[in-house]
Amino acid sequence: MTEFQPGGHSSGQKGLPGRRSLLAIAAGFAVAGLAACAEQPASSPAARPAPGSTPVMEAASQLPVVPETRPAPPSKSQVVAEFSARKPVSWGLDVTGVVSKTASPHAVLTFDACGGPHGSDCDQRLLKTLRKLNVPATLFVNGRWIKANPGLAADLAADPLFELGNHGFQHQPLSVNGRSAYGIPGTANAGEVYDEIMRNQEAMERLCGKSPRFFRAGTAYYDDVAAAITNALGLVPVSFTLNGDGGATFPAPTVAGEVGKIAAGRGAGQIVISHFNQPGSGTAEGYARALPGLLDRGVTFARLGDTLPL
Ligand SMILES: [Zn+2]
Repeated sequence: MTEFQPGGHSSGQKGLPGRRSLLAIAAGFAVAGLAACAEQPASSPAARPAPGSTPVMEAASQLPVVPETRPAPPSKSQVVAEFSARKPVSWGLDVTGVVSKTASPHAVLTFDACGGPHGSDCDQRLLKTLRKLNVPATLFVNGRWIKANPGLAADLAADPLFELGNHGFQHQPLSVNGRSAYGIPGTANAGEVYDEIMRNQEAMERLCGKSPRFFRAGTAYYDDVAAAITNALGLVPVSFTLNGDGGATFPAPTVAGEVGKIAAGRGAGQIVISHFNQPGSGTAEGYARALPGLLDRGVTFARLGDTLPL
């Protein structure tokens, strides 16, 4: 299980590189090794102004230059050339490079909108409950859902309570050799992985005016090579710690029971997956029952991006 680390660096072989490291990967693409990036200081101590003694303008002129925009991701042909020969060694919800838990003291609620013929509605009652209780969330939206709800997607992107993530263009498990999950065929090769990520990324950038930082594959299944491609494209592949609504199949009491497991002291750093595209499910009612009690017990929530330093 990979965790975000507050300092932007993680330990262990499965550790996720810090944000700066991710940028370096995207910029350099064929990066020599994560360790080299992780050891690079965030800023040079010599460049820091002495606290309280340096005029503002002088201090500003000495600050390291930080790019305001992310570097362009590698092209499809670059991804194909770099990754096509690599054989995956793992497949599932929790593979190397995929984040399923954070090191934050806050719980992260994530809600997916998977799109498709039976998945392009919006659970307005659930969103209303989150807004009423001022509980932030990260919303992963699929390309088919955006196509069915362009105005709503733009409204959600503009709401500071929410953060939008990329849930793929066709809602496919992310594989470089066509593995399936829950009967849904996965992407067949590195080029299809690129398309599944970037076609929706580009649609979201056009619609929302900003680039999503996080990606969750359809079904949340990945192989390790597909996860590495996601990271190389500058996105963090995300899984989950706690399944709140069982793919929007749980009745409300079950949702309330599962979400209620986010207890203070136990739930810190958990990433909870549920859905906001199935208004006929028990999800909204389950969250309406569970959230007030969690807040009373001191559980705090944050968007995924708030748990990962830029
Ligand atoms: Zn989905």
